[in-house]
Amino acid sequence: MKSIFINVFNVDFHRYISLLIIIVFIRQTSAGVLPSQDSVSLYTANDKVVILTNQNFSSTVYQSKTAWLIEFYASWCGHCQSYANTYREVAIDTWGWKRIVRIGAINCYAEENSAICDQHTIVAFPTLRLIAPETTFNTSKAISLTANDAKDVERELIKELDALQIADKTWPRFRPLNQIAFSDIYSHAPTSVKLMLLIVEKQDDYTGRQIMLDFSKYHEQLTIFRTTIDGKLWHRFQLNITELPALLIVHPNRTTERINTKQNNNEKMGSRNLFNYAIRSYIHEKKCIDDFNDRDLEEIIHSKNALKNADKLKISDTDEKKPDDVVETRTISEKLSMVDLETALSYMLRREIPRIKEIQGEAYDALLHWLTVLIKYFPGRQPVMMYLKNLLSKVDNQPNGITGKKFREFADINTPESYLPNNQVRYQYCTGSLPRYRGYPCGLWLLFHTLTVSQVQSEPKRMRIIEIPSAVKSFIKHFFGCRHCSDNFMKETSDFHQLDSGDKNSAIIYLWKIHNHVNKRLHSDETEDPKHPKVQFPSENLCSKCQSDNNNFDMTTTLNFLLKFYSKNNIDLTSVEDFTPSGNTQDELTRKPSIDQYEMIEINNDSTKKFRNIRYIISIIQRFPFYFLIFSVIIIIIIRKRYCKGKRKRYTL
Ligand SMILES: Cc1cc2nc3c(=O)[nH]c(=O)nc-3n(C[C@H](O)[C@H](O)[C@H](O)COP(=O)(O)OP(=O)(O)OC[C@H]3O[C@@H](n4cnc5c(N)ncnc54)[C@H](O)[C@@H]3O)c2cc1C
Repeated sequence: MKSIFINVFNVDFHRYISLLIIIVFIRQTSAGVLPSQDSVSLYTANDKVVILTNQNFSSTVYQSKTAWLIEFYASWCGHCQSYANTYREVAIDTWGWKRIVRIGAINCYAEENSAICDQHTIVAFPTLRLIAPETTFNTSKAISLTANDAKDVERELIKELDALQIADKTWPRFRPLNQIAFSDIYSHAPTSVKLMLLIVEKQDDYTGRQIMLDFSKYHEQLTIFRTTIDGKLWHRFQLNITELPALLIVHPNRTTERINTKQNNNEKMGSRNLFNYAIRSYIHEKKCIDDFNDRDLEEIIHSKNALKNADKLKISDTDEKKPDDVVETRTISEKLSMVDLETALSYMLRREIPRIKEIQGEAYDALLHWLTVLIKYFPGRQPVMMYLKNLLSKVDNQPNGITGKKFREFADINTPESYLPNNQVRYQYCTGSLPRYRGYPCGLWLLFHTLTVSQVQSEPKRMRIIEIPSAVKSFIKHFFGCRHCSDNFMKETSDFHQLDSGDKNSAIIYLWKIHNHVNKRLHSDETEDPKHPKVQFPSENLCSKCQSDNNNFDMTTTLNFLLKFYSKNNIDLTSVEDFTPSGNTQDELTRKPSIDQYEMIEINNDSTKKFRNIRYIISIIQRFPFYFLIFSVIIIIIIRKRYCKGKRKRYTL
């Protein structure tokens, strides 16, 4: 008996260890681990964007010698993902301005960064803020920038830098020289100045200010002023200017010399590039500035090319993907996961909603409406439903509205009878191939669809078809952090009040259609996880009879599919977390794998006892993968030693 066991053990030893390592690996790479800040960041060390975190934010940004433009974003937010390339471009374009302003970004999705995002009252993603130099958080004037396109952001940035009115002589003189006399011009430059340039331009032109920033590194030797045609200074200078903007050298004897900015006869080059080229050529030729070099420019060109190539690679990657390849790589889940629903709920209640400083008026009504709908229709476990009820009663007790902070306090309360695990970013089926993909918005969609189906299946006496779509809409309007997504959703659901009140399934169909519309809009854009393409749902693999040849859906079959797919019986309850006393991170969770507690209200769990036991064992392995591996290795070593001892004894006899 013993030898049989040992033989089996010997043969299977390596296979067994490999299996354990695979279990640990799967567990670590999918649901179990909070991604580190770096892994969820939309930016990398190769970008010109400084990655800010709770560790380096104050030491880098506050009391800094330079101003800081900061993007507050959430890595799950689709619009932030699309915006990242625009922001990269801003950081590259302004690389030469780093003595004046630096470009940084912080991911508010990382729990550890959330306090900083709260300090800056970030309610929507992405939000750009400019922080003035030499300021602390308390004294800093955070200025919102709303522009979308990189060039617009740069212009907004210049406007805001100009508005800071920094008196320091080393700071560029953005204000036009319209009030001073021409003879006084040198008295406004440092004594070390070796070259003085004057840019004459229209009032609303940014070329002069861009050039000042581009050459700000050489401020001790190179002074650049600007004047505008409206100020008439150029008139007083008696400059013979026919074309604007114009670039002039002001010699120490107050004579002026026009620089030909058209020598690089490239029509496509904007005036900033033409001026830049002309100034560089002049300085190289005259050797009038010490230690002048083109290093920043080279870096800018290199980074721009890298960004363009990355874009091209992405495009050719999607071009080359044949539909068959896509289907092969797609993970198709035929079930829903309670972990995904609860995780989305937890993030929503503990992070999204509390971001709103004062939840009052329409937003407060939206919150009450949303919590009520959750209590009525979310097919949750008993303690989770209890948690939602307690939360609603606490919010309802604040008739004048509630602060985000207070709401978070209420949402953090977990007791053994009433709790919602604080899973943070632990998703099961909504896990993407990279941490930035899927997650929260995926969980949110699943939650919305589940609610519409649950409403029909719970068959309330008086069913209001509009109840769930209107609660979803007002929730998205007031609380969904991806502002751009929220705006799109508002437009896409503008007709929701026309829902057919005579058809009890119309809310299910309505949300399904809207979601497919969003899928179509986002298909092949940078927010799409290549491993989970945004196809029209349900795909053929999930429901072969739902779609006909010409991509039309058979409504009866599709509705039946949705009713089954989003029914509470189709929710996978394995891996849900148990009560945690502190309500904090997943690591602190009390891991009592008591499957019995996971039973949902009104759900018939038809698993056999045997199946439950297997699930129980698997859940223990999943919960303690590392300890289980160590434990198994120790047991194996002990058994092996005993076997060897036994063998030796047999040989000595
Ligand atoms: C209200 C809302 C608006 C959004 N707007 C934007 C936006 O404007 N821009 C942007 O970049 N991102 C937007 N997003 C995010 C985007 O829709 C996806 O949620 C996100 O990109 C993650 O995609 P995913 O691959 O996980 O699939 P998701 O689209 O999140 O879908 C999750 C799951 O739902 C199921 N499903 C898919 N389609 C349907 C359907 N038609 N009916 C029923 N079930 C379905 C599938 O099982 C799928 O895996 C929005 C999200 C929400 C909740």
